[in-house]
Amino acid sequence: MTHTLTLIKTVYEESQLEELEVPQIILAGRSNVGKSSLINCLAGRKKLAKISSTPGKTRSLNYYLVEPEGYYIVDLPGYGYAKCSKTERAKWGMLIDSFLKDNHHIAAAAVLLDSRLNPQQNDMEMVSYFTQCRIPIIPVMTKSDKCKQRDRSKVQKKWQDIIKTKPICVSSKSGMNRTALLNLFAKTAFPGQETENETPEES
Ligand code: GDP
Repeated sequence: MTHTLTLIKTVYEESQLEELEVPQIILAGRSNVGKSSLINCLAGRKKLAKISSTPGKTRSLNYYLVEPEGYYIVDLPGYGYAKCSKTERAKWGMLIDSFLKDNHHIAAAAVLLDSRLNPQQNDMEMVSYFTQCRIPIIPVMTKSDKCKQRDRSKVQKKWQDIIKTKPICVSSKSGMNRTALLNLFAKTAFPGQETENETPEES
């Protein structure tokens, strides 16, 4: 199945938030984890999401419509790790809180984790934040091409112990598990509906 991702909406201010009656999968991760690259990989386009060299530069919620299924991937850039002033960070935090509050259409949060790193404090904070909000977590280990499978498995096991879900390993460079991740998102957005069944190539 060919999937398309289209940037539908960008929200900078609380006043721009509106209730969208469509299942939403949050994409979260600290700067440089490979989030823009993953969006581009899922979209099969090089420049849909800007690959930023400046960490934490973007301050907006970006809604990508995934077709043909018809759910949104909502990108939360630089969540919690903004290298910016306290005021700016507080404003950003408020925008995220408003987005999450009373939003009954959030199906899950895909939390991006670097395959090469042991669980980091700020990643754990992000995981516990979503857990507190009662949002199911889809752990996604990025840049899997950059490390050996043996090392990756160790990191994967550590995250599995923490989150109680086995992370899916992806690579935007090789395209590893691209389709499996899209299928997992679709299944999470529309539970009970038939989706293409693809087992992750490698876990
Ligand atoms: P973001 O800040 O989370 O959006 O991260 P980017 O997508 O901008 O990626 C940060 C850096 O990691 C860039 O230099 C990317 O080329 C690199 N990168 C991202 N994903 C991968 C991957 O799957 N494999 C490899 N080898 N490099 C990656």
